Amino acid sequence: MTADRTESEPAATTDSSRTVAEIAIVGGGLAGSLAAAVLARAGHRIALIDKRAVYPDEFRVEKIGGPQLAMLGKLGFREALQNAACRYDRVLNIREGKVIDVSVGQAYGFPYADLVAMARSQMPDPSSLIVDEVTAISCSDDLQHVELASGRHVTARLVVLATGMAGVLGYKLGIRRRVLAERHSVSFGFTIARRDGRPFDFEALTCYGERTADGIDYLSLFPVRVGMRANLFMFRDPTDPIMRELRREPEATVLRLLPGLQPYLGDFSVIDRVQNWVMDLTVVEAHLQPGVVLIGDAFQTNCPAAGTGVARLLVDVDRLCTEYAPRWLTTSGMGREKISQFYSDRDKVAADEQSLKMARFRQALTSRDDIGWDVRRRLHFLRRSLTHRVDQMHPGWLGRVRGALRA
Ligand SMILES: Cc1cc2nc3c(=O)[nH]c(=O)nc-3n(C[C@H](O)[C@H](O)[C@H](O)COP(=O)(O)OP(=O)(O)OC[C@H]3O[C@@H](n4cnc5c(N)ncnc54)[C@H](O)[C@@H]3O)c2cc1C
Repeated sequence: MTADRTESEPAATTDSSRTVAEIAIVGGGLAGSLAAAVLARAGHRIALIDKRAVYPDEFRVEKIGGPQLAMLGKLGFREALQNAACRYDRVLNIREGKVIDVSVGQAYGFPYADLVAMARSQMPDPSSLIVDEVTAISCSDDLQHVELASGRHVTARLVVLATGMAGVLGYKLGIRRRVLAERHSVSFGFTIARRDGRPFDFEALTCYGERTADGIDYLSLFPVRVGMRANLFMFRDPTDPIMRELRREPEATVLRLLPGLQPYLGDFSVIDRVQNWVMDLTVVEAHLQPGVVLIGDAFQTNCPAAGTGVARLLVDVDRLCTEYAPRWLTTSGMGREKISQFYSDRDKVAADEQSLKMARFRQALTSRDDIGWDVRRRLHFLRRSLTHRVDQMHPGWLGRVRGALRA
């Protein structure tokens, strides 16, 4: 049996117990769903398998902007994102109650489940999504076999493992997760509104921590459809009593930790459940195997404060789905030498390294209280603030200087 594609087969072929596809994507979070849409739109026969028909209300990335938007545009998701998310263009950045600078540029806020739904909606054939749990995968140089909890099977030439932080399937294949930093960061997510029902005076706002002992990197406030979303990123022992206080009395605790926020928020309340997440930094080992390739969090986890998770997974999706996988399918076999091309891709390696570098930088900038980092921290914020002031006095001045220097 082969799973080679013929022109007359637009989607994966299915009978009651078996689906045959070119590529089986296991895990339909953001990475897997984007990969599925990109590959299916290019005409590949794919099967996207996720245990849940709809991504649940779980706290993951909730805003994107900058280079991530450009990459989503390149992959053809920009318009769908605009329809699914809430746009904002200016972020007021403050520390100790004072304005540091203003970030200008398109960004979008959303619940993660909506982002995943957007990506899945871009698959030309909705029946490519199989709602089932994958229980086992067996891989070889030729065909891969995926077993589902329902007893069904999927056969494909390539398996893309996009199961996020769930490591069971990888583990069964002998793929291990190396923990680089246990309990590296803690993140809180909740939605706020003013008690008087009026909108906040800012479109979006980032408030940086005031004291290293608090371990607060920043609180990011940005619009989503139902209100103003808050993401609080911390580097602090997750067993510290402050975690319980943040869950039980989020308003008072946030203001105690970030007193400079008070004038910007006024009288506000948290209008939904406070979610929180403790993140380990991990990377896989023994992953170079025939027939299977790992992307997104399944390959490496990220520090939420560094905001590199989406950037990384977009590079993974772009490189794998627009370059390597289409090329691999044109010749027989799916051995290690093919798979290793993706893992050693220059852009992928750079994005993975950058993510770890940023994770360490954010932690040090937030928490290190030795003299070297104290000076660095002061300079970091001073530089931003001076650059902003100069640019406010002479709009475009800095850009022109930089342009002239580049030329
Ligand atoms: C609290 C938090 C805040 C974050 N904030 C940011 C941020 O601000 N910026 C940023 O860039 N990144 C952020 N990140 C990181 C970002 O959210 C992740 O990198 C991204 O969501 C990973 O997507 P994924 O598709 O790899 O994994 P997931 O979204 O976790 O998807 C995995 C999928 O696999 C499915 N699955 C697992 N096992 C099986 C199985 N056996 N059978 C079938 N299906 C299975 C699951 O159902 C799920 O749908 C944050 C992460 C967290 C936790």
